[in-house]
Amino acid sequence: MLAARMREYHKPLVIEDIKVPDILPDQVLVRVGGAGMCRSDVQLIDGYFAEALKTKFPITPGHEISGLVSAIGDRVPESAQLAVGDQVVVAAGWGDGICRQCRLGNEQICEHGSWPGFGPPGGYAEFVPVPYRQLIRVEQRLKWEELAPLTDAGVTPYRGIKKLRAAGVFGPDRVMGVFGASGLGSYAVQYAKLLSSGATVVVFARNDEKLAIAKERGADVTINTRGKSLNDIQGELFKLTGHRKLDAAIDCVGAEETIQAGIGLLATAGAFVSVGLVGTRINIPLFPFTASELTYHGSFWANYADLQEVLALAQKEKIQHSIKRIKFQDVNENLELLRAGDIIGRAVIVFDVDSDSPAPHK
Ligand SMILES: [Zn+2]
Repeated sequence: MLAARMREYHKPLVIEDIKVPDILPDQVLVRVGGAGMCRSDVQLIDGYFAEALKTKFPITPGHEISGLVSAIGDRVPESAQLAVGDQVVVAAGWGDGICRQCRLGNEQICEHGSWPGFGPPGGYAEFVPVPYRQLIRVEQRLKWEELAPLTDAGVTPYRGIKKLRAAGVFGPDRVMGVFGASGLGSYAVQYAKLLSSGATVVVFARNDEKLAIAKERGADVTINTRGKSLNDIQGELFKLTGHRKLDAAIDCVGAEETIQAGIGLLATAGAFVSVGLVGTRINIPLFPFTASELTYHGSFWANYADLQEVLALAQKEKIQHSIKRIKFQDVNENLELLRAGDIIGRAVIVFDVDSDSPAPHK
């Protein structure tokens, strides 16, 4: 099979013809239909996670995976209800299954966790072995390129916004900010509309083309922040919404500027959630943070149940997708576009797998 693999840091991926992987008795071999390309793949190549992961080369990146069940291990139980030919997505974040967080359902934050594409082989290949417990069967046929990104870009902001919802900062007289309008942001704006109980949703980004898509996806207001001071942005926010502050904000970028702007615009008792990871540190003024009783949430990826909810939304056609289909051979040039922020929506490698036939039923 073909696989695009990392043999060292800071180098393009190498496209290689390698043996189709064997599966363990509790694994399923998935024939990859779609593999989403994430900015964190660029960060992986750049060594951003080197300390945390300590992975050995070669690494096959790709953690947003949709595909067909191709083979099933001997010890996969009947109760898993998986059959060859089923359309599946891969829930990333594979925990040890026994720690407190795993037992709470949050395998993605297991201390002994791993993630396909960051150690175990990922979806930048024609086949990938996956523990059967991490697969979710999708009954309704959806396009590979629409399914794959739901497992990260399409679910990570969903979990983040659920944290804001739990913080009690939503309502029709509230203002919700979404920072970023690329991969994660183009989903975040939709969940902001769905979950914020009628709040005014404002999207902040630096690219007019991406902001135009955010508007189509339901943003009430968009603000281009390029070259603007916090004061300028606040003035524009007031002009467009009648409010000077945000009650809630999700940061899908995670750059120094978006954290500064997001926290700087937060109203008293407001809540902020970080899901984007472009930068490396959080540096915010302490006294206003404490005196205004702000809340800062970290939110990492999503758990299996979050992904089930997002898949339910997708199957009810409640999610609009902004996708750029990528040919496998063009993976490296698209990683460069991703690095430069020049991809609109989500780039997804699409393999030549039949996706037109209906899903087999039991
Ligand atoms: Zn665990």
